[in-house]
Amino acid sequence: MVIDCHTHLDEQGGIQHLHQSMNEAGIDGSIVIAEILPDGRSNLEQVLAAVRHSDRLWALVNCIFSSTIDLSYVESLTQLLSDDRVVGLKFYLGYERYSASDRRLYQVYEYCEQHTIPVMFHTGVLEAGSTGLLEYAHPLQVDRVATEFPRLTIVMAHMGNPWLMDCAAVLAKNPQVYADMSGFFAENEPITARDIEVFKQRMEQVRVFLNSYDKFLFGTDYPLYSQKEYLAAVHALEMAPDEREKVMHGNAARIFRLPTS
Ligand SMILES: [Zn+2]
Repeated sequence: MVIDCHTHLDEQGGIQHLHQSMNEAGIDGSIVIAEILPDGRSNLEQVLAAVRHSDRLWALVNCIFSSTIDLSYVESLTQLLSDDRVVGLKFYLGYERYSASDRRLYQVYEYCEQHTIPVMFHTGVLEAGSTGLLEYAHPLQVDRVATEFPRLTIVMAHMGNPWLMDCAAVLAKNPQVYADMSGFFAENEPITARDIEVFKQRMEQVRVFLNSYDKFLFGTDYPLYSQKEYLAAVHALEMAPDEREKVMHGNAARIFRLPTS
């Protein structure tokens, strides 16, 4: 079984392309990130419609900082989270300029901790030309939140790439923090044999440091990548069978409380 814990709808916004991609790759389930952007654009309705019409899809909903610090918005988030197809929240650290440990966010973290709702943080590079700030997207941003909220389950998207070892330090220290393997390669380009070699080398350093891939989740960042090519790249990593089971679906199923049968 394979679960892709990090996907987006493509520009057309339908689920057909995603289903087709999953079928071609042999991926059983995908988590789709619903985007609510600071400029007011949102694909929340499309994503909710998609996940409610497919037993293979679930949604994460992204939080804009300026809204999330407002109590009435938090109430609307909790309503969204009562839908069993909505399995967590996402924060775009770095793209918006705020610290993950800004105390105004603590009410949301407290809610998530109490209700066992996982939170995904964007970590790592920002798009070229972004007006965001890398300092807020660094993996060390997550350490303080994880330390203050030891029962909040956190997934660091993109493993903090290129700060993989910084991400590994945060994983090693904080038992409830995980990382998804998405977004490692050049966007919208085929993943080459050479890319896979580099991926293996860099991931091997992480594995030596952590002793295993137990705290990683398979994720792609589809449609920026082919799920099939990404899956082949992750399959090229050396893993023991029990590690592979956790990375490919076990961790995602447990963290996001997905039915696995
Ligand atoms: Zn993404």
